[in-house]
Amino acid sequence: MPTIFTRIISGEIPCHRIHADEHVFAFLDIAPLSRGHALVVPREEWAMLHELSDESAAALGRALPRVARAVMAATGATSYNILQNNGALAHQAVPHVHFHIIPRFPDGSGLGIRWDARALDASEGAALAARISAEMARG
Ligand code: AMP
Repeated sequence: MPTIFTRIISGEIPCHRIHADEHVFAFLDIAPLSRGHALVVPREEWAMLHELSDESAAALGRALPRVARAVMAATGATSYNILQNNGALAHQAVPHVHFHIIPRFPDGSGLGIRWDARALDASEGAALAARISAEMARG
């Protein structure tokens, strides 16, 4: 089953397109949190960021700042959030990797953030960092 974003990329479902290249497609979110809220999507159809090929990930990394610059210039926004949800627990509704570019305006429109920060325990932090860096070394 193609995702709704694959169907948008193929032209089967209409969108307000703002960018397309070999690996990446971008369009306006249909239910924006603020004016200019855009989605940047790899053509490659994977649900989560860590599943992407290096080629697709690199193309996204190249396109994101360019689309962000264009959104800022077109809307006059001077602040914005990049949001990228992975998994239902993380608020992902569409199982096709996508980055939200969400301009933030003085009227308060944009991404609302709840940031329940806790203190990092020093010994747990050391153990976790060691485990994660070992995983990194495995590739
Ligand atoms: P997420 O919760 O990160 O999966 O966000 C999915 C986003 O896709 C939401 O902000 C939706 O408004 C947006 N969306 C869903 N369907 C469409 C569509 N047909 N065109 C544009 N944006 C869409």
